[in-house]
Formats: sequence, structure tokens, C-alpha cells
Amino acid sequence: MSARIPTHLTNADLHSHSNVSDGTLSPEDLAARAHAQGVELWALTDHDEIGGQRRARDAALALGLGYLTGTEISVSFAGETVHIVGLGFDADDAALQAGLAATRGGRLARAHAMADSLARAGVGGAFEGALRYVGNPDLISRTHFARFLVETGVCNDTYEVFRRFLTEGKPGYVPHQWARLGDAVRWITQAGGVAVIAHPARYKFSPSAEYALFSEFVTHGGRGVEVMTGSHSEPERLRYAETADEFDLLASRGSDFHSPTESRTDLGALPDLPGRLRPVWEALEHRIQRP
Ligand code: AMP
Ligand code: MN
Ligand code: MN
Ligand code: MN
Repeated sequence: MSARIPTHLTNADLHSHSNVSDGTLSPEDLAARAHAQGVELWALTDHDEIGGQRRARDAALALGLGYLTGTEISVSFAGETVHIVGLGFDADDAALQAGLAATRGGRLARAHAMADSLARAGVGGAFEGALRYVGNPDLISRTHFARFLVETGVCNDTYEVFRRFLTEGKPGYVPHQWARLGDAVRWITQAGGVAVIAHPARYKFSPSAEYALFSEFVTHGGRGVEVMTGSHSEPERLRYAETADEFDLLASRGSDFHSPTESRTDLGALPDLPGRLRPVWEALEHRIQRP
């Protein structure tokens, strides 16, 4: 990576999770897996948290990978939870750190309410059960509950958990107010980074609400969209390549890898971006940390 100029053919994976949020691998083991998978440019993007950034960067550079700082911020927009990935920011930025801490803040009370809801549906002990999977006490997430429901045999895998539990209208779902879109975009951009709409096909928006998301995102200073993600089907990749054209957005590529046994898309295992789109990592060339 060190001598190479990044292009749209760079094996960039700019969306992944460690056990500092809801992944199962440490930042170091994730870096090693990214390296083994042929990733050349990597970003760890833990949910609402940048506590693993230094470890991830040190491990990446030791292995010869290029590194961009990363996070994935939970946002409430038009009644849905939207995820905004931040890339290439200064991890020491105080406003970004305070914003992320405030966003994480409600997770513990929400987890207790989720456990109460699961108990009413006949699944007891879920708070203590989920906690056994938590690597960072500040970041208890639905994924940790999902692992407990699999462990206890209530569901066969985490995909079944999210079909039967933890999503709107199902036991264990607790509505939550996350960060505002404009705040999340500003925390990232004012720290020198680029804000990217994560996995847009995952949101259950009407066409007009989706249009509002993209146009407000751009108005706030957002510049990128994930086109190649483990969360998108092939038609969805084509569709959001067109959205990148329409809103003149930089395109990103990331697996959203969480775990060797749970994730369908491994680190770096995605098609290249279409050549006509501008990769987000070209605009962040000056922020890439190199071995
Ligand atoms: P939270 O931030 O606590 O709401 O948890 C969100 C996390 O749960 C996401 O980042 C995914 O890792 C996981 N998740 C959410 N929905 C699903 C789904 N339908 N299938 C699999 N994992 C999901
Ligand atoms: Mn996750
Ligand atoms: Mn996400
Ligand atoms: Mn993610």
C-alpha cells in the first residue's frame, strides 16, 4: 500500500466492527484478518465509539496496511435509525468525542428496557446474558442480545433473532432517540473527516423520505454514500451508484464485517467500485495513515 496511489481498484474496506462495539474480534485480530484477506486500506468503524482507533491503526501499520480513522454514528431521521460512517477525522477532536459519548449515553437504560420487554415475552435473564458478550460496557447493543438468544437456543442464528425479536413491533424492541443527522455530520466534518451514509438500502424509507435524507445530508456537509457494502444486493449496488451520481457523492466500499461466524461478507470481499464513481478514499488521500 505504501508506494501505491489509491485508485478505485484499491482493496479498501472502510466499514468493520471490533469488540469495542458489537464485533467479536479485537482491533488487532481484525487488522490481521483484513491483511490476510488482501485489504490494502482499512478503517475500523465501531458504533458511536472511537476507543479502538489507536489500537487498530497501530496494528494496521505494523502489517503494512493503510489506515483511515472511522466510526459509525447512530442517527434518528424521519422515524428511522440511520447510520452515518465517519472517515479520516482527527480522533483527538473534543467535539467529536463529546458527541459520540452523548450518543452512547442512553444505551444502558435502553438495554434494561429491552431485557424487560424480552422477559414479558418469556425470555428471562437477557440483560445479564447479553452482558457476557459485551467487550465495552459503554456499548451494549442489540447484537449482544442477539448472541444471547442464539446461545440459549431461542433462535438458530442472529438473522433469525432480528426477524423474530429486537426490531420494530417485535419483543425486545425499544424505540430510541439517537443523534441528529446534522450534528453527526458536523462532528465528523469539523474534525477533518468525511461523512458517508451507511448501507442506504437497509432503511425502510418512502422515496420522498429517502430523497429528504440525501438532500439534508448534503446540506449539512455530508459527502459520501456506501455503494459496495455487505448489506447490499447487486441491484441495490447499481441503484445507489446512481444515487451517488444524482447527488454528486463520493462512493465508499466496506464489508460491515462483525464476526467470522455471523457475517456473510468477509473483510475486503466485495466487488470494486464502478470506475465512473469517485472513491471516498481519493478525497481522503491526505488523511490516510501509512506504514
Ligand atoms: P443497536 O445499535 O444496538 O441498535 O444495534 C444495531 C446492530 O444490530 C447493527 O449494527 C447490526 O450489527 C445489528 N443488526 C440490526 N439489524 C439487523 C438485522 N436485521 N440483521 C442482522 N443484524 C442486525
Ligand atoms: Mn453492528
Ligand atoms: Mn450499520
Ligand atoms: Mn456497521
